[in-house]
Amino acid sequence: MNDSPRTIVGLDLGGTQVKGGFVWEGEHGTPDVEQTLARTVAMDTDLDAGANDLLDRLAGFARELGSNGPLGLGVPGVFEEPGGRLLRSANLKALEGLDLGAELAERLDLAREHVCVDNDANVATYGEQWLGAGSGIQDLIMLTLGTGIGSGLVIDGQLYKGPTGKAAEVGHMVVRSLPVNGPEDPDLRCGCGAYGCLERLASASAAIRRAGAAGLDTDLRQLCEVARAQPGPERELLFEIGFDLGAGLLATTAVLDVTCYVIGGGFGRGLDLLEPGIRAALAERDYGHDPPRLLPATLGAAAGWIGAARMALDSRD
Ligand SMILES: [Zn+2]
Repeated sequence: MNDSPRTIVGLDLGGTQVKGGFVWEGEHGTPDVEQTLARTVAMDTDLDAGANDLLDRLAGFARELGSNGPLGLGVPGVFEEPGGRLLRSANLKALEGLDLGAELAERLDLAREHVCVDNDANVATYGEQWLGAGSGIQDLIMLTLGTGIGSGLVIDGQLYKGPTGKAAEVGHMVVRSLPVNGPEDPDLRCGCGAYGCLERLASASAAIRRAGAAGLDTDLRQLCEVARAQPGPERELLFEIGFDLGAGLLATTAVLDVTCYVIGGGFGRGLDLLEPGIRAALAERDYGHDPPRLLPATLGAAAGWIGAARMALDSRD
């Protein structure tokens, strides 16, 4: 009998790239973070040849990484829970309707329950909570500030997904009310249909839109550099965006007593500039909460596959 530890692969399927890597089964505790990050590899997603071709290549990618145990997969989309069928994915429409876990289990000769599929925000959150900024913290919310705002919630060290898998959609919390009499701002109408969702105000896309409207540089990296260098409209705009973000955190803190937020995504690198606004919004209410911790994510684009691998580790017999 072979007693060597199995290789647990995590994959993070994006619209243009798949990132992946592996951990050893014995690393369930605390694997070396640098070594784990160094195992990150990528391949093109490329759906031109159809869903079956991509699934074949995903299985091949997992095999190349040495997969011989449970597998984890993160996907940007909404899943049917329970069941695991991909209901909607804006960037991977060809995969909609498929049970990706069953498809990969068949290709890799694994039991269905040993292929763990979850949305990209959840796996990234789990990755950061395991080996990143949230390491050792049992309760946190992670927000990924990108095109939208992805979010995941960890309670007592476990991802909380809710009975139908749609919990913790912090990006779609309404933080700006629909004007009762006045005209509405069309920029605040969200893709989900609601008005004033947090991601219409504080995602990277929203920040670009707001910078453009204010006549400022729409390259967020540049905008942040100018804001760091000197006071002025750039710093003020980032304060305002931070304030809106803080309004969202105020609400999640009120419901869940969240004491730690991990902020990731490209725009999350401006957390130092957003933090004064976030803190100002949080200070609006005094309900006896200590100010929450605001931590920049540390695993970058590897958080997703690392969290997916951790989910797979959790699924072992
Ligand atoms: Zn929305």
